[in-house]
Amino acid sequence: MLPSDLIRSLVRLLGPASVLTDPPDLDRYSADALSPARVFSGAAVLERMADAVVVPRSVDQVAPVVKLASQHRVPIVPYGGGTGVMGAAAPIKGGIVVDMKGLDRIVDINPTDLTATVEAGVVLEDLARALKDHGLMLGHDPWSVPIATVAGAISTNGVGYLGASHGPMGDQVLGLEAVLPSGETLATRTVPKYSAGPNLNHLFIGSEGVFGIITRATLRVWREPEKRAFATMAFADFDRGFEAVAELFALGLKPSLVDLSEEDGSGVRLFMMYEGYSEGVNAAEARSLGVCRAFGGKDIGPSETVAYWRTRHRAGESYKRDMLGQPRRVRWGRHGRSFDYLHVALPTSKVLPFRHECDGILAAGGARAVEYAIWTRPELFSLLLVPDGDPPEADLRALGETVDRILVLAQDMGGAMEYCHGVGIKLAHLLSREMGQGFDVARAIKAALDPYNIMNPGKLY
Ligand SMILES: Cc1cc2nc3c(=O)[nH]c(=O)nc-3n(C[C@H](O)[C@H](O)[C@H](O)COP(=O)(O)OP(=O)(O)OC[C@H]3O[C@@H](n4cnc5c(N)ncnc54)[C@H](O)[C@@H]3O)c2cc1C
Repeated sequence: MLPSDLIRSLVRLLGPASVLTDPPDLDRYSADALSPARVFSGAAVLERMADAVVVPRSVDQVAPVVKLASQHRVPIVPYGGGTGVMGAAAPIKGGIVVDMKGLDRIVDINPTDLTATVEAGVVLEDLARALKDHGLMLGHDPWSVPIATVAGAISTNGVGYLGASHGPMGDQVLGLEAVLPSGETLATRTVPKYSAGPNLNHLFIGSEGVFGIITRATLRVWREPEKRAFATMAFADFDRGFEAVAELFALGLKPSLVDLSEEDGSGVRLFMMYEGYSEGVNAAEARSLGVCRAFGGKDIGPSETVAYWRTRHRAGESYKRDMLGQPRRVRWGRHGRSFDYLHVALPTSKVLPFRHECDGILAAGGARAVEYAIWTRPELFSLLLVPDGDPPEADLRALGETVDRILVLAQDMGGAMEYCHGVGIKLAHLLSREMGQGFDVARAIKAALDPYNIMNPGKLY
């Protein structure tokens, strides 16, 4: 429960329609797309609800909300599309959830500088549409384009289909404006490159809202390509396909789209797309097909990859249609059976050994992988795993232990336990192990900027 004078102050500041305290509203905002079944034994923390939800419309409304929270020592949780899959936007200590989708203006698109300045809550799809009118496109193109916001993608440093050519969302950020836990506003310089470190944009990239609330961002954007070429290669096994992808990257070939995937019983496919100026696309495509053939790949034509490309946002569209804004019990009931989807980053030399060790861990833990994939670059490896049979709830603990063994193996092989979705509550217990001394340094920064630990407490540091 929040003190009533705090609620009154919020209403004075934002107006009654922008301060929500009814239980159904609190429920909708008290989770993201992570269901308790994927938190395994730590699921109880998801039961906590927000005490209030506010919907500011400008940075001038965000800053005083944060100041009030600081004065009252009340937790404050930035909330974008609520599509994160790690529980990073869940208000696990209660407090005020700040729905940033009210900051939804596209401030400027500059086709000469190739930049776009937008408010934090702009949905990626809306920005992509506006850019298209200028012959431009966004370098970040996740499955969740129809539902995720710009600042949510920055705060998770997400990866999308174009990650091979344009990098993760954090790589697109040129400058940021953010409200710090004290309520002060920080704007970093929007310049293509500067020398004085540390680059303060990185205080917020991948930081899940623990250092402040992003209110605006200037992003690098790209001209729509002159040409796109699609290719699909079939491989007899995953290892040969992986070797081909590693060789492409070692040669300096960077397809815009790279997805090598092995699905239960449907063979191994490499989906590739090249885009850019015509001569470059033609040359890169021809050389890539040659490399793949040298590793036993069979060119089965572009049609499967064209279909893949056209339907790439389908999961985001169906989430938007069926789940977005629904009560938690609807969102959490979505998956009929337990599963987990892991996305680890490893040195190229460790990917195949990791995969083979995973098979052993899964078999010992009563689980199996139904999909293995390389997405955007050879070092980024995913597996979709399910338990053998349909375990009762108690056995979810065992599945959680199996997952942890796999993630710890990735760390021990010189990698990271997650490359795409962040840490949230799902992976929090393994973060200090991964970061070592860096964890204490990050904690010291957090304590200096947020002495009362009000900004998304319980996440990261
Ligand atoms: C169907 C589906 C497909 C997906 N596909 C992908 C994919 O291809 N690639 C990928 O990377 N992810 C994917 N995701 C996960 C998710 O879409 C991303 O993590 C996305 O970047 C989250 O954006 P959001 O706006 O929903 O953020 P939220 O879930 O609302 O928040 C995520 C984190 O950012 C913080 N945050 C939000 N706004 C701000 C702000 N203004 N200032 C500071 N912190 C803030 C929150 O506190 C939280 O810690 C998918 C999810 C779904 C449901």
